[in-house]
Amino acid sequence: MNIIDRMRLDGKAALVTGGARGIGQSVATAFAEAGADVAIVDVDFETAQKTAGELIHKTGRNCIALSCDVTKPDQVNNMISDVVSAYGKLDIAFCNAGICINTPAEDMTLEQWDKVIQINLTGVFLTAQAAGRQMLKQGYGSIINTASMSAHIVNTPQPQCAYNASKAGVIQLTKSLAIEWATRGVRVNSISPGYIGTDLTLNSPTLVPLIEEWNRMAPMHRLGRPDELQAVCVYLAGDASSFTTGADFKIDGAFTCF
Ligand code: NAP
Repeated sequence: MNIIDRMRLDGKAALVTGGARGIGQSVATAFAEAGADVAIVDVDFETAQKTAGELIHKTGRNCIALSCDVTKPDQVNNMISDVVSAYGKLDIAFCNAGICINTPAEDMTLEQWDKVIQINLTGVFLTAQAAGRQMLKQGYGSIINTASMSAHIVNTPQPQCAYNASKAGVIQLTKSLAIEWATRGVRVNSISPGYIGTDLTLNSPTLVPLIEEWNRMAPMHRLGRPDELQAVCVYLAGDASSFTTGADFKIDGAFTCF
């Protein structure tokens, strides 16, 4: 098969957590454009339904919306069962749901810390674990976790110690799962985006005033767009990346190079 064919995802079944909007929505679109059926998984079910409807209209793929809070093991397990009921299998899991809370470390409450760790790290673990169980049964699957450049550097000037710690955890979790499942057909990789223009950044009253400052620090002097993450995720999802596991891909316009 030539490389263009190996980059396609025809006949594959994918799920995307945090898929209703932002990075998840963009990568879900790419998966569907590459030929996969996609389950849009989100706590915001109404927006997930809208996104799934738009994907069906745009790509003609069989897309569904599923309500799921990734911090709740029962909901995650039910969600995986629903995906398998709908598609008969699960080939690709993009574990992407995440939040950021910006609070100085000395003022951060345990509740704030727990919320970030629960969604960003435990939620990725629970989704990857449940997806992995299904994929190990199949002997095939690709899991992609969303880390961040915050796993590699400490962002400034905004304080976000819980977020940075959670994302560093995602990378080490990714490598651990990759090693455990390497001989059983299940690959696990992560992406580490730089600042990307989504609701998380563009609609945050604390972050919007900082965008000019980030852009001054950024080698390319701009935010990334969600569509600039699509190609790496399609590559990691499919057979073109069959020897790639335990890797983290920085897509940050060289922000972390200095
Ligand atoms: P976003 O626009 O805020 O979208 C995140 C989606 O996840 C929302 O639909 C949100 O629903 C959903 N979600 C939140 N908590 C959830 C939960 N417990 N279970 C299921 N879904 C949940 O964010 P984004 O910018 O696309 O970020 C996506 C991922 O990329 C996150 O892991 C983020 O940390 C990471 N990232 C983002 C950037 C950036 O600059 N944007 C950079 C590096 C990494 P609600 O809106 O209802 O909460």
